[in-house]
Amino acid sequence: MINQKAINELRSILPAAEVKINAPLHEHTYTRMGGKADVLVFPKTIEDARAAVEYAYHSSYPLTILGKGSNVIIQDGGIRGIVLNLSSLDNIHESDKKVIAQSGARIIDASEFALDQKLTGLEFACGIPGSVGGAVYMNAGAYGGEIADCLESVLAVTKEGKLISLTADQLDLSYRHSNVEEKGLLVLEATFQLKDGHYDEIKAIMDDLTEKRETKQPLEYPSCGSVFKRPPGLFAGKLIQDSELQGTRIGGAEVSKKHAGFIVNIDNATATDYLNVIHHVQQTVKDKFGVDLEREVRVIGEPPEA
Ligand SMILES: Cc1cc2nc3c(=O)[nH]c(=O)nc-3n(C[C@H](O)[C@H](O)[C@H](O)COP(=O)(O)OP(=O)(O)OC[C@H]3O[C@@H](n4cnc5c(N)ncnc54)[C@H](O)[C@@H]3O)c2cc1C
Repeated sequence: MINQKAINELRSILPAAEVKINAPLHEHTYTRMGGKADVLVFPKTIEDARAAVEYAYHSSYPLTILGKGSNVIIQDGGIRGIVLNLSSLDNIHESDKKVIAQSGARIIDASEFALDQKLTGLEFACGIPGSVGGAVYMNAGAYGGEIADCLESVLAVTKEGKLISLTADQLDLSYRHSNVEEKGLLVLEATFQLKDGHYDEIKAIMDDLTEKRETKQPLEYPSCGSVFKRPPGLFAGKLIQDSELQGTRIGGAEVSKKHAGFIVNIDNATATDYLNVIHHVQQTVKDKFGVDLEREVRVIGEPPEA
């Protein structure tokens, strides 16, 4: 647990930032689940974010970065230490056919901004509900496109609190993976190199992808999107469907009847319910097809006290 002295220190180092104590995190996740953060900090500037990272490093408090919470399950025991939420860092601008977006901006907004600038390359991201920072961390992608295709560079903070620039090549981007965590980085800003395009053509692609998403995905329920990565040469959703798992429910969490790759929070699910459904699906698919389903969604925080 963080003590009052540390909270006072954080408030004096970051006078403009919002600092919440014992903050419920379910309000900040797409699954609407999760326990409380000891301290939840909303930096208002890049310098605030850098200073918060440096403080956590020197005080040895664990630091967790939360984007839009659309690819995390926060366990019911919550998160110890400091949680940083970068939602206030949401500026997006254009320079020389590059879209430069701060990491708390929604990647959907970056995609729509590119459309307004008649720039092509970010259409695939038009329905991904995460932040720019989370999209870089996950190398998010959809319908044949991914962040690696258009990311030029990022501005980041090292765990010691030093600002650095990295090219996309230095982030080791592959299918739903980057080395952001391994390097202990906080991504502050991303620069996407795009190309001139035609507004109507870009818009038509985005409309088509949105329609596909709305018809296929259970967007009416809280979820974290596709729970599992695609096993090589296979589809997680098809394996789950063929295992007759759709509709399987534990507590308030259920394998979606609309899209087998999603687990939805249909009735006040706890993170424990959700994780139990994940384990049941993994076990059943393994028994039936011998395939290990690897989680795409990140699980963070502590289990509830027994
Ligand atoms: C309905 C729905 C549909 C989805 N569709 C897609 C899809 O089509 N394609 C796809 O790829 N994903 C999809 N997702 C998953 C999710 O939106 C992406 O993985 C997204 O990139 C996560 O971003 P986030 O800001 O929500 O990250 P979070 O869930 O908040 O965090 C994910 C990880 O990123 C880290 N992180 C976040 N921000 C930063 C930062 N600034 N610096 C360093 N680390 C950071 C966190 O610590 C955490 O480990 C979907 C999710 C939902 C709910």
